[in-house]
Amino acid sequence: MAPSDYLLRMSLPDVVPSYDAIVIGAGVMGASVSLELARGGRSVLCVDAGEAVGSGSTSSSSAVIRFNYSTPDSILTAWEAGHRWKRFADHLGFVDPDGMVRYVETGCLALDTPNDNRPQVTEMFGRFGIPYEDLSGQEIQERLPALDKGDFYPPRPVDDPLFADEPAKDIAGYYTPEGGFIDDPMRAAQNFMYAARQHGARVQLRSRVTEIRRSGGSVQGITLSSGEAIDAPVVINVGGPAAAHLNEMAGVAEEMRVKSRPLRQEVHVVEAPENWTPEAGSLVSDPGVGVYFRPGLGGTVLIGSTEPECDELHWVDDHTDFNPVPTPELFEAQVLRTARRLPELRIPLAPVGLADLYDASDDWAPLYDKTSLAGFFMACGTSGNQFKNATMVGTFMAALVDAAAAGQDHDVDPVQVTGDLTGETINLGAFSRLREKSSTSNSVLG
Ligand SMILES: Cc1cc2nc3c(=O)[nH]c(=O)nc-3n(C[C@H](O)[C@H](O)[C@H](O)COP(=O)(O)OP(=O)(O)OC[C@H]3O[C@@H](n4cnc5c(N)ncnc54)[C@H](O)[C@@H]3O)c2cc1C
Repeated sequence: MAPSDYLLRMSLPDVVPSYDAIVIGAGVMGASVSLELARGGRSVLCVDAGEAVGSGSTSSSSAVIRFNYSTPDSILTAWEAGHRWKRFADHLGFVDPDGMVRYVETGCLALDTPNDNRPQVTEMFGRFGIPYEDLSGQEIQERLPALDKGDFYPPRPVDDPLFADEPAKDIAGYYTPEGGFIDDPMRAAQNFMYAARQHGARVQLRSRVTEIRRSGGSVQGITLSSGEAIDAPVVINVGGPAAAHLNEMAGVAEEMRVKSRPLRQEVHVVEAPENWTPEAGSLVSDPGVGVYFRPGLGGTVLIGSTEPECDELHWVDDHTDFNPVPTPELFEAQVLRTARRLPELRIPLAPVGLADLYDASDDWAPLYDKTSLAGFFMACGTSGNQFKNATMVGTFMAALVDAAAAGQDHDVDPVQVTGDLTGETINLGAFSRLREKSSTSNSVLG
């Protein structure tokens, strides 16, 4: 043993600290999970390798709130979660004295692609009472004059000779007035954690988990890179893009039929045309062009990708090793595509924006689940589309932990959660690691 290691060991306490639950990761999901476990009366420790709550991939989120997903459980989750964001202080039970996030309700316009799932989605909207309107191209342009009403499908690389062709027909779509975005995703995580702390949760930053200790088929606790061991009968992997690595560490990766892995993404920010403000604009999901965009704060447009088939996906082997700087190629592709829909967009010469990682699952639906290692749970696979559900995910994970404590085997008897807005049942089996792949858009749209 090196002398420094020896001295470190000598300085560690003899008694291993222990909690009812350890949450690995202090992003928006880990903070929400910490809140619900602590609110349920458990002693909770949330550990994070980073410098601040919410400083992982959460800080890069576009924080879009919309309700159009491919499956009933996903739609219900997003709708219930959206209403919790609307009365966020009530949901937390506290007002964070350092400032609360704001839900900017811009509305969400989802534009069509051939043979998409609009009929199924709007049928489910009707069933769950989610207000929406079908809009023709003409109606879209009357409502949102900054938008071109052309149908540009299919998405193309910018060097395709057909890229700038005039559209042959008009686009159509549907509009949900209650869509929008949260103005500061990192602060949202901090708001959750403020509330969690009021219920006694502890947060330990700059603490990297290097081992998940197991004993006789159950989780025993974690070991940090400092050598410190901490025990708990419940450990929850909320490691964001590091989740697959943590599942490997716990020895549960092999049993997963649906897995997740890090996927590099860029979000670009450009000056908004004058007629495209949070008041006059809308969140737009435009898979026929290959982008989503929304009004940003300070008079900007924020642009992300919907993973069109013509683009290569940038999978990352090691979540700690990726280029965090936007590239000219992706910047050009995403901004020029957006300029088709928003023709008055002015295009900067150099890339502005960010690059970060999704924890993308095989079917772009999340993994909220137990594992075969008793006491080890995961909230991961968030696939670039789950920020909006953070207000529900703490409830989901607390329900899974409670069910396991009561002897319910979620793998054979899936836990159900009742939405407090609709009274409808959300089947957490839909987010199981053992599911057959869900039928989704195979993109961030979920
Ligand atoms: C660019 C981008 C845009 C997005 N846009 C949207 C959107 O518009 N709408 C939407 O709904 N969703 C969106 N998402 C998805 C959403 O933001 C994420 O799903 C969510 O923020 C993930 O939160 P998290 O807490 O799971 O992960 P993170 O915020 O990444 O937190 C995980 C934490 O775990 C810690 N950690 C990892 N390994 C260890 C370890 N070994 N020991 C200790 N700590 C560890 C990390 O330091 C990190 O802080 C987007 C995501 C990205 C990246």
